[in-house]
Amino acid sequence: MSIKTHQFEVVIVGGGGAGLMAALYASKGASTAVISKLYPSRSHTGAAQGGISAAIGNLEEDHPEWHTYDTVKGSDYLGDQDAIEFMCYKAPELIYELEHMGLPFDRTKEGRILQRPFGGHTNNKTGKPVRRACHAADRTGHMILQTLYQQCIKNNVNFFDEFQVLDLIMVNGKAAGVVAIELATGDIHVFHAKAVIITTGGWGRMWEITSNAYAYTGDGAAMVLRKGLPLQDMEFFQFHPTGIYKLGILITEGVRGEGGVLINDKGERFMEKYAPTVKDLASRDVVSRAMYIEMKEGRGINGQRYLYLDVRPETVNKYAKIDGRTNPDGTPYQVTGEEILHKLPDIIDFCKTYLGIDPIKEPMPVQPTAHYAMGGIPTNVKTEVLSDEKGTVVPGLYAAGETACVSVHGANRLGTNSLLDLVVFGKEAGIHAAEYARGAEFAPLPDDAADFARAQLDSIRNSKGNERVADIAAEMKQVMMDKVGVFRVEEGMQEALDKIRELKERFKHIHIDDTGKVFNTDLLTAWEVSNLLDLAEITTASALARKESRGAHSRDDYPKRDDQNWLKHTLAWARGDGDIELRYKPVVITKYEPKERVY
Ligand SMILES: Cc1cc2nc3c(=O)[nH]c(=O)nc-3n(C[C@H](O)[C@H](O)[C@H](O)COP(=O)(O)OP(=O)(O)OC[C@H]3O[C@@H](n4cnc5c(N)ncnc54)[C@H](O)[C@@H]3O)c2cc1C
Repeated sequence: MSIKTHQFEVVIVGGGGAGLMAALYASKGASTAVISKLYPSRSHTGAAQGGISAAIGNLEEDHPEWHTYDTVKGSDYLGDQDAIEFMCYKAPELIYELEHMGLPFDRTKEGRILQRPFGGHTNNKTGKPVRRACHAADRTGHMILQTLYQQCIKNNVNFFDEFQVLDLIMVNGKAAGVVAIELATGDIHVFHAKAVIITTGGWGRMWEITSNAYAYTGDGAAMVLRKGLPLQDMEFFQFHPTGIYKLGILITEGVRGEGGVLINDKGERFMEKYAPTVKDLASRDVVSRAMYIEMKEGRGINGQRYLYLDVRPETVNKYAKIDGRTNPDGTPYQVTGEEILHKLPDIIDFCKTYLGIDPIKEPMPVQPTAHYAMGGIPTNVKTEVLSDEKGTVVPGLYAAGETACVSVHGANRLGTNSLLDLVVFGKEAGIHAAEYARGAEFAPLPDDAADFARAQLDSIRNSKGNERVADIAAEMKQVMMDKVGVFRVEEGMQEALDKIRELKERFKHIHIDDTGKVFNTDLLTAWEVSNLLDLAEITTASALARKESRGAHSRDDYPKRDDQNWLKHTLAWARGDGDIELRYKPVVITKYEPKERVY
């Protein structure tokens, strides 16, 4: 089979928010290509609803330092404070940059960017929620993606859309390109590069109930793992409190930002008990756990595994009065149905479409949904990928966005901080990769550059067992949801690890029906499931080892945070045949010593 070869100084894997921001900046100093398995504007960034954070203080007092502190606290003190500070102080500049590119943010009457409250973002003096999330209705990610894509087209970035990257080419320990399959033809392409940036997004499809797109199968992280490089803090995966019951589709935290509240079967606004100051706007790990406890204690709606999210104007107005919530001018906060419809049009639409419910008139049934990977490919603030706990850099390899772990989110991400992470670190990746490429030569391409990728596909194509990929995927999702979800215990996680290993074994005996070349989704779905299995094993092994509760990693058998022994990042290597090596590295603490988190 002939292999097509291309050469670009910088190759970016992924065309989402992080990839496009990186492309925009890399293309200013180097020949740049974006390779994306989806058409770029279909990337998951387009599904982001609620907003992007920046302490621009358009409606009330706010400071980048408050944003920094909230992010450190939200991370349950596992975030690296140098990276967090860098991101929060860069945020205002990036928001204005997006605005100048043409991003249609919602506006105040005076024409300034409108902002709304989001979980965990507070006024550090009063502890009350602060309006820090900039938004374009509830389609903020869509607007970011469209804006960046237009800018990339304008800047002549080269796009290879619907090309799925299967392998990373490394020569003498340096990144030298990637191998991809062209979905429309089945042809294999080699992209020879001086620098590679991985921006492939997350892996929420590992769990049964998830807000994540079907494409969220962790391809980039799994590729890096197979190259003998570690993944960081994989045990920390965020469950968002409000997914549509059974479907997992996200209902943005912006609903609670606009005054919506969570209600149990007794009609109680139960978050008052768990987070007396910020209530429904506590950080996501805190709210998801509270919901699980309510349901476990029998206060789910009709005894079932869901609760109500209520944004009906009468409910919002009632609780706004109780909370003493005011508008920026000091007048009492009150909303009408039309105002809610104007601020949350897509949410109203989703509920009507998927549930036949109008949220202006009825409460929405919700349950926690697997949402966001805090862990991923370890990088430093320059987005250079790291190969060990000492911070050794892999030359020419960069990562940004959800697939990376820089680590600004630590053990728990605050809402609206991911879109910020994408633009801040996407930009850094583009700048540093182009700079590196300018000073580097193309490494000679090995003759067998495409062999590993082809062998992976061939082994799936030629496998003649009777296992079905869909069954294996369903069993993985179920066990991860039940045993490595919001609450975890030793025994359950061990059971999950054994199950995943059994599934990996069974995967060797799969059978796929489509043997063709054109858009062979059967083949590529199987390959994606193998990525998820590898990441599920690493996630569970990392989680089993961490004997404490911190952020999203909550253990019934070790309910307390243990800074003495566990204020450290996990690095996990897959050494083959189920041998997972775990090592640890310290958290970067600059100003904020760990304290108990009170919301
Ligand atoms: C429903 C939802 C709502 C959210 N709302 C918010 C919000 O309001 N605020 C906020 O801050 N965060 C939000 N988040 C989180 C945030 O949107 C994501 O973390 C972020 O958009 C990820 O961006 P990314 O660029 O890393 O990845 P993506 O935008 O997903 O892009 C990944 C890219 O990688 C490509 N790719 C993947 N694998 C391969 C491969 N093998 N070969 C080639 N290309 C590949 C894909 O084609 C895609 O272009 C939300 C997430 C979800 C799921």
